[in-house]
Amino acid sequence: MDIREISNVIRNSVTAIDVANALGLEVDRHGRCSCPFHHGQDKNMKLYDGNRGYYCFVCHKSGDCISLVTGVVPECSYTDAMWWVNDQFGLGLRPAKEKPSIFQRDRASQIRKRKDQNAVRDTG
Ligand SMILES: [Zn+2]
Repeated sequence: MDIREISNVIRNSVTAIDVANALGLEVDRHGRCSCPFHHGQDKNMKLYDGNRGYYCFVCHKSGDCISLVTGVVPECSYTDAMWWVNDQFGLGLRPAKEKPSIFQRDRASQIRKRKDQNAVRDTG
């Protein structure tokens, strides 16, 4: 699955209301919460059922259940948000070809280096 397919699966599995609850936003029985994007105090944001996302009547911010995360978690990209929802709801989605992150690449080379050192020690 590529990133776009994964985001589709997430949008069809989890509602904006589910995500708002997971983020600790207080959702009333009409599906409204205070908007994290303009830091509103009133319940101006409407969260919809199904895959219809959310809409704020004050700052007009709208989006899907994934982008809602980016309004609450600082420095969170859409992709980060996607994996956060995936983990949070145990959806178990993974990219088809996982490109190792810089961190993972470093880690792999560290492990390789350590193996080489051990090999030297063993023979020496
Ligand atoms: Zn707003």
